[in-house]
Amino acid sequence: MKTGFNRRDFVRTVVGGAVALSLGPTAFAQYGPIPGKILLRYNENPYGPSAKGLKAGSEAAKVGAYYPESIIGDLQRMIARRHGLSMDNMVLSSGSNEALQAAMVAYGKRGKVIMPALTYTDHVAYAERKGVEIERIPMADDLSTDLDAMAAAVDDSVSLVYVCNPNNPTGLTIDGDELRAFCRDVSRKAVVLVDEAYNEVTDDPPYTSVVDLVGEGENILVMRTFSKIFGMAGYRVGYGMGHPDIAALINGHVMAWPNGVGLATAFASYQDDEFIAFSREMIVTGREMVNATFRKNGIEPLPSQTNFVFADIGRNADEFAKKMAERHILIRGSMGGPANYARVSMGKLEDLEVFDRVFTEVYNT
Ligand code: PLP
Repeated sequence: MKTGFNRRDFVRTVVGGAVALSLGPTAFAQYGPIPGKILLRYNENPYGPSAKGLKAGSEAAKVGAYYPESIIGDLQRMIARRHGLSMDNMVLSSGSNEALQAAMVAYGKRGKVIMPALTYTDHVAYAERKGVEIERIPMADDLSTDLDAMAAAVDDSVSLVYVCNPNNPTGLTIDGDELRAFCRDVSRKAVVLVDEAYNEVTDDPPYTSVVDLVGEGENILVMRTFSKIFGMAGYRVGYGMGHPDIAALINGHVMAWPNGVGLATAFASYQDDEFIAFSREMIVTGREMVNATFRKNGIEPLPSQTNFVFADIGRNADEFAKKMAERHILIRGSMGGPANYARVSMGKLEDLEVFDRVFTEVYNT
């Protein structure tokens, strides 16, 4: 199942169109959120970056005349140590999406890629454009990832298995031990790529993560990002931890040289425990606010352990998202899932208060 129009296409069309219209003597650059709009569509975290991260980033900006050098190793070394890993386990990329794309292409040359039918797809769209063969495994009836069906689909023709935990757009989390058992079994036949973009927001991040299997030498790659819990989506810094052979292959396929400001901001943010706790608290509070809005309108959302919520709103969600957009609140429709499901990301808490009011009005008129 394709999620169709992806974020990159959307950004290209909307921003490209707007720029084309506005170019001229008064052309200006628009940074950050669109003025007058409440952005609840891309799972961003408006509470980042951390103040310590911003400070480090602005120091790095001052020496932006120079190529980033030691910070590349420093950041990877710090992350590796935190997980008891070594440098040869590490991957660094421009957002996690770049390494995800690299993995799809690198392994896609060797065989088929298997993935759940309803999941994150920006990297998948890229891989398909490069001719990679993808097999989509239907979701279970409750929209959870059907690990048994995925394991059953792995044969000699498969080189890579992509799993997203927690999953986007459903927000559903696979039990940590079930995923460990799956990885141990399946990774004997194909590389397992576990996308943990939202791990830090889950109820029990260490249990939910399979990064311990990397330390055990399993044939897996775990991808993480600075875009979500660290609120650094605009900085484009992602990292992976995997078997040394996998990490070497992916590092050989990433194309961007990470930017110094992003790396410096990431380095300071990663150590800012106070900010991480604050960020998590805001996200969990926001999630409960969105859940409450749904419930007061008689909607039971899927249980999310992420910074977004997916819910069956009982009517066409793409149409509903358009009505919300007319009221300046940008949410997502079904994203390739069942047509009645809408996805709402966390925004600032004050934005979610506006969402509550407008959603209730639009839903009941
Ligand atoms: N993986 C998942 C599951 C996502 O939802 C996203 C972004 O929304 C990404 C990866 C890519 O994030 P980034 O490239 O900003 O690290």
